[in-house]
Amino acid sequence: MPEMMPAVAVRPGTPHSLHPTSLPRPAAGPGEVLVKVLRVGVCGTDMEIIEDKFGTAPPGAEALVLGHEVFGVVESAGPGAAMAPGTFVTTTVRRPGDCPPCLTGQGDFCADLAYTEHGIIGLHGFMTEHFVERPEWLIEVPAALERVGILTEPLSVVEKALQQATLIQRRIDSWQPRTALVIGAGPIGLLGTLLLRSRGMDVVTVARRAAPNAPSAIIEAAGGRYVSINDESLAGIATTLPPIDVIFECSGNARVAFDATRVLGNNGVLVLLSITGGDATTPIPLDQINREFVLGNKVMVGSVNSSRVHFEAGVEDLARFERLWPGLTERLITRRLPGLDAWSQITQRERDGIKTVIEVG
Ligand SMILES: [Zn+2]
Repeated sequence: MPEMMPAVAVRPGTPHSLHPTSLPRPAAGPGEVLVKVLRVGVCGTDMEIIEDKFGTAPPGAEALVLGHEVFGVVESAGPGAAMAPGTFVTTTVRRPGDCPPCLTGQGDFCADLAYTEHGIIGLHGFMTEHFVERPEWLIEVPAALERVGILTEPLSVVEKALQQATLIQRRIDSWQPRTALVIGAGPIGLLGTLLLRSRGMDVVTVARRAAPNAPSAIIEAAGGRYVSINDESLAGIATTLPPIDVIFECSGNARVAFDATRVLGNNGVLVLLSITGGDATTPIPLDQINREFVLGNKVMVGSVNSSRVHFEAGVEDLARFERLWPGLTERLITRRLPGLDAWSQITQRERDGIKTVIEVG
């Protein structure tokens, strides 16, 4: 009998089936390293998987082990694996299929949606004690970032967003973004705010909750401005600002995403980051949006997931955030659950909470 280790899983097809389970403790094979899980982040995607909005078990399995945000330490290396024990690591989530972008290292642009994703689609996640992986999927995190390294995955999502915006805006020789709007103040919105602030932009972040609250305090400490959408409409906020050069939409609400098209400045770029699970319909002012996009050379672009380059940029920016605002990034982690035994608490909403992590190791 193999030695077993605890894990936390759902049964895809059954809503609210979160349960403790166990997996065989793995050993590093040739070219692989064994990673000890130190902590796992919990995010909105996990909640949607628990509600059975999506999520697929690995082939032949009934359960899917949750968890795609992981921070760990290399415990041992198999033959031929060049990664030293003691190295702190995180890992990309998606494993590519065989379409052209996948085959050229851009699985985040998978064209035929034939990828797998740890803890989401077809591969077990990291809510367990150990996993094995090839070093090509692992990203080294300096020991100095041990307290915040778990945020590399959500940060990589906005790193990709900023990279996309920057690549697109090379179309305008004189482009110099000064004013940014971030919609949503969850972990993605907050990390997006810090990222845009770290690039010297004036950033206004809007969300529903009345200020002051935990996100508004973080935003203001980074020199940004928080506005509750309950106090002022998006259009009203925009009239107080210079032309908005960049918008990150991470509210989780498609109506807000289309409202954002109306406040984007000329030559601006709106990056959509919310995976909205519903099927809402609403009348929208087609002619106005179309006219404003044509006359203003505006761009709206979707962006999902992230690749190794975005994780590497994330690690660099976590260090930059620490230099700019010592200790601030860690304030995104508002709840640390004491081990996998506390699994049932991940679905309990935390008052004024931002990010929950499970302290596994
Ligand atoms: Zn693909």
